[in-house]
Amino acid sequence: MTRITIGHLYPEHLNIYADRGNIAALERRCAWRGIGFEAIAIGPGDVLPDADLYYLGGGQDRDQLLIADDIARHAEPLRAAVDDGAGVLAVCGGYQLLGHYYRGHQGDEMRGIGLVDLVTEAGSRRMIGNIMLDCRLDGAAPQRLVGFENHAGRTFLGEGVQPLGQVVHGHGNNGEDGAEGVQQGSVIGTYVHGPLLPKNPWLSDWLIGRALERQGQDQQLTPLDDGLELEAQRVAAAIAAR
Ligand code: GLN
Repeated sequence: MTRITIGHLYPEHLNIYADRGNIAALERRCAWRGIGFEAIAIGPGDVLPDADLYYLGGGQDRDQLLIADDIARHAEPLRAAVDDGAGVLAVCGGYQLLGHYYRGHQGDEMRGIGLVDLVTEAGSRRMIGNIMLDCRLDGAAPQRLVGFENHAGRTFLGEGVQPLGQVVHGHGNNGEDGAEGVQQGSVIGTYVHGPLLPKNPWLSDWLIGRALERQGQDQQLTPLDDGLELEAQRVAAAIAAR
């Protein structure tokens, strides 16, 4: 049976606004299609296991500080895994740690793993609210992405680094340049919680598709009835537009 493996980094530390729900969404969409699914928790001190997709949720500065030194151990193994076709999904606090550094609200500077060329510095005003993006991954047809953001960090992408999407409603990476998140091949970072995936099933399927591709399985995913998910997305988009 086909099976995908998710390496869930720091589930005890990086899990706010129900970010763990992203794992549940992936697991369900795999189960509905008869695709096996395994999530491996990776805590401080653990060795990075082989996985098709690595996941990091969000966290307050305090929680990020607790794992910032530990995550540095994974910088090289994660880069190697990505070069080998693995994906990464990182939300908010996790997203910030994909970059070169995050300077927190109290001035704490946390070194990131430098997987993506971006930096983040906390501003005095938090960026809070419902958010909607227009995403065009890999030049595909535009997709709507909805959710909730709450961050002090302002992220700036390096020259030529592509955002995940353009902000339609909300703040995004820094509240200035209209960009939100990052996409670099199979690596996705975003400020969007909600959790992210249940209301944005197209992104779940993009991640599952990449994970299957890594295993050399270029199969078309069986379409699912996304009626409820799309209704939730429609309502979230209407709230974000208020
Ligand atoms: N601590 C980070 C910030 O405020 C991330 C918060 C979060 O993950 N929601 O920018």
